[in-house]
Amino acid sequence: MAKKSAATQAKAAAKSGATKVKPATAKERVLITGAAGFLGSHLCDRFLQEGYHVIGMDNLITGRLKNIEHLFHRSDFEFHHHDVTKFVHVPGKLKYILHFASPASPIDYLKIPIQTLKVSSLGTHNLLGLALEKGARILVASTSEVYGDPQVHPQTEAYWGHVNTVGPRGVYDEAKRFQEAITMAYHTYHGLETRIVRIFNTYGPRMRLNDGRVLPAFIGQALRGEDLTIFGKGDQTRSFCYVDDLVEGIYRLLKSDYAGPVNIGNPAEITIKQFAQEIVKLTGTKQKLVYKPLPQDDPMQRRPDITLAKKLLKWQPKVDRAQGLKITYAYFKGLSKTELNEKEHNSFEGYVRR
Ligand code: UDP
Repeated sequence: MAKKSAATQAKAAAKSGATKVKPATAKERVLITGAAGFLGSHLCDRFLQEGYHVIGMDNLITGRLKNIEHLFHRSDFEFHHHDVTKFVHVPGKLKYILHFASPASPIDYLKIPIQTLKVSSLGTHNLLGLALEKGARILVASTSEVYGDPQVHPQTEAYWGHVNTVGPRGVYDEAKRFQEAITMAYHTYHGLETRIVRIFNTYGPRMRLNDGRVLPAFIGQALRGEDLTIFGKGDQTRSFCYVDDLVEGIYRLLKSDYAGPVNIGNPAEITIKQFAQEIVKLTGTKQKLVYKPLPQDDPMQRRPDITLAKKLLKWQPKVDRAQGLKITYAYFKGLSKTELNEKEHNSFEGYVRR
């Protein structure tokens, strides 16, 4: 049976002569897909903090309920176990939709390539349709991977990218490129309010320790007393953004009136070898750095140009790597032995540059 709204209850109370009940303002409702994932779960926290009613959705292929377990007791949070590549139904009003469902580790792309393609193509299409139906504003999570192995450095939003459509990363990169295209088409053709964030490498608590990405890989190896595996010579670069900074940038972008893609990331660039050395220092591990073949199509450099975000959103990252790594290491150290020893990816075969 449908619950009576606060206003109806207040009216009934007034009629019966009972003490006047002030009708509670209905909270604005936000749908966050990929809610049980690393970024999705932090977004759930942020939107709850801002006073929204949050509807989290996840099919739990790569997401983990543990990331949002602390929210289940709240009446302003609900969880829908659903795969967004199937028709998405959410009863009631929606103010915003944030589409963050997708595998996000290069090794996952190999393990579940079709799902990776579907979630950012079919899934995005479903969510755009839902946004249209609800009159909601939608923000989609795009990626620095749309730039591929970039020939322009640092990457500005104006750069069109350098992607191998049929390489191992193509399933992610091309799905995200399609996602941007269909999102922009809904904006121009249907007049839908859309936002596109291009997310660069991000780290922080709740990353999966064994998802194959470099930061959890190195910290996991240090914690287990294994050597740290550097792919290639380690001279490829990345720029790592702490999750709170990223969430702030996304929040501001959602509230802005800009429909074009916006880079959000930390421009502090570092080689993977230097990064490994930082992790050795942070963890105090006595293990060695060992070298493995470089994965096929592994981008050699990556650094966001955030001029646009600075101007448009008055945003720039605040947490430096030393601070962010300390918090992240403390989180990983707190994991159980079982979690620490769980190996999701035992082999890198088929993942090397040929
Ligand atoms: N990498 C590495 N050792 C590992 C895992 C990753 O040297 O155990 C390298 C990888 O080849 C890439 C960089 O670290 O150059 C970042 O990889 P990640 O998978 O975190 O994300 P990407 O930025 O490539 O999507």
